[in-house]
Amino acid sequence: QSKEMGGNRARFYNTEDTRHLNRRIDIEAALRPALYLRQFHLSYQPVYRTADGGLRGFEALIRWVHPELGTVEPSEFIPIAEHNGLIIPIGEWVLREACRMLASLNANGADSLIMGINVSPHQLKDPTFSRTVLHTLKEYGLPPEALELEITEHSSLYASDAAITALSWLRAAGVRVALDDFGTGSSSLANLLQLPVQCLKIDKSFIGKIDADSAERILVEGIIQLVHKLGLEVLAEGVEFEEQYSRLREWGCDYVQGYLLSKPMELGALDLSVIRRS
Ligand code: C2E
Ligand code: MG
Ligand code: MG
Ligand code: MG
Repeated sequence: QSKEMGGNRARFYNTEDTRHLNRRIDIEAALRPALYLRQFHLSYQPVYRTADGGLRGFEALIRWVHPELGTVEPSEFIPIAEHNGLIIPIGEWVLREACRMLASLNANGADSLIMGINVSPHQLKDPTFSRTVLHTLKEYGLPPEALELEITEHSSLYASDAAITALSWLRAAGVRVALDDFGTGSSSLANLLQLPVQCLKIDKSFIGKIDADSAERILVEGIIQLVHKLGLEVLAEGVEFEEQYSRLREWGCDYVQGYLLSKPMELGALDLSVIRRS
């Protein structure tokens, strides 16, 4: 079997495991030069206010198209990048690229849009992180309030003092912090109380079930009230149907994001008027 599978590293695995392991090895090898080879780009998903339907801003989402592997999903390569440390340079690239886009949107007449970027806990633990963020904002002439860092848990990394210190520092400087994927195993009430967050993003797995008479419906309505009582803002991700949107607006959810409104899209600085009108 090992010969067919292309080497003795496969000897102790069955076919399925081997395919899995080989793909991981391929991705890891391809990931190292990907930044240098400019294989990443960002896709931007619009976020809207429910109050007046206006554009609040965007969430930047990383995309990787490799010449041989094809499109590799962030859910597949981000964990590998976190494991081998590449998340630090990749995360810095995302920060710069997203800030560059926002600055160029501003130069084309956007006003007070908010750009969200996903930040890995490994980045938060990096002692240079907060300095890099503030420096990059300054370099592109952006106010700190224009940037929203989206964080999720993963293990107990947030309990680390370094991460909490970095976030508190950035919050004090005016940078926004949102708790992503709220309600899933990786984003809990404990985080909400422990971390200096300003906005909570309810995970799409809940939003997908609010049109029926379900526990999710009660839960989401309750979370919105709870979040407002804490003086924070709330966003619903994964809004796919008109009915979900009207429920969320009725319940006072501040912001919405999802395929109903717009998929993540390739963005040029001049596209803004088009997005606004839609
Ligand atoms: P996330 O931050 O929760 O991002 C939202 C994900 O939901 C995105 O998947 C987006 O394409 C997808 N989505 C948006 N609207 C809908 C909808 O209506 N229905 C459904 N079913 N899905 C929707 P994507 O781009 O594949 O990203 C997956 C995850 O990978 C992100 O989840 C985030 O955790 C991570 N990620 C993406 N970009 C970055 C990045 O630049 N840095 C880091 N550290 N993580 C990233
Ligand atoms: Mg995807
Ligand atoms: Mg996110
Ligand atoms: Mg999310």
